[in-house]
Amino acid sequence: MKEEKNKYESRRGFVKIFGKLLAVVPLAGLPVLLSKNTSLKGYVWQIDPYKCIACGECKTACILTPSASKCVHEHALCGYCDLCGGYLKEGAKSIGTGAEVQMCPVGAITRKYVEEPFFEYTIDEDLCDGCAKCVKGCKDFGNGSLYMQIKQDICVNCNECSIAVNCPAQAVSRMPADNQYIHKSRPV
Ligand code: SF4
Ligand code: SF4
Ligand code: SF4
Repeated sequence: MKEEKNKYESRRGFVKIFGKLLAVVPLAGLPVLLSKNTSLKGYVWQIDPYKCIACGECKTACILTPSASKCVHEHALCGYCDLCGGYLKEGAKSIGTGAEVQMCPVGAITRKYVEEPFFEYTIDEDLCDGCAKCVKGCKDFGNGSLYMQIKQDICVNCNECSIAVNCPAQAVSRMPADNQYIHKSRPV
């Protein structure tokens, strides 16, 4: 009878210890699981246009050619090019030529006249190589409607973004995948 009781108590002790282990082991693994989720899944690389200095590194630093970093235009319509005078600066060809035409070496930007003083801008993503020349022109002389963004349908979401590593302005960081782009007209 005494032997029976000892057996029962030792079995009860084993169940208790096993139960405690079950509770502790998953908790110990949690930080690893969390770090995996936050560094890879659900996050993408993106450029903060307020930090970007349009240095041109985006063109060559990306592992893809052409770069996944492209110029975007903030507004469907813009009339500022003809007012800011940026196209009259260095290399300007004529008074009737917009800054976007002057600045883009591969002719990726076209603008269509809509009505005074507005134009509609289109950026050909296949042509754009991410040189950021137009962004620099727009920023230096105008209101900064053109800026750089990593296009998520092109980017392969590297573990460590090569542009982020090389960016002199630390403008590239991970952000939630459900908020993939930074729009200048909306609060960040
Ligand atoms: S490398 Fe950085 S600062 Fe240079 S164009 Fe790209 S995002 Fe802007
Ligand atoms: S100037 Fe450079 S960044 Fe701008 S549209 Fe042309 S290729 Fe793209
Ligand atoms: S994550 Fe990779 S593919 Fe995407 S922009 Fe950075 S270097 Fe290019």
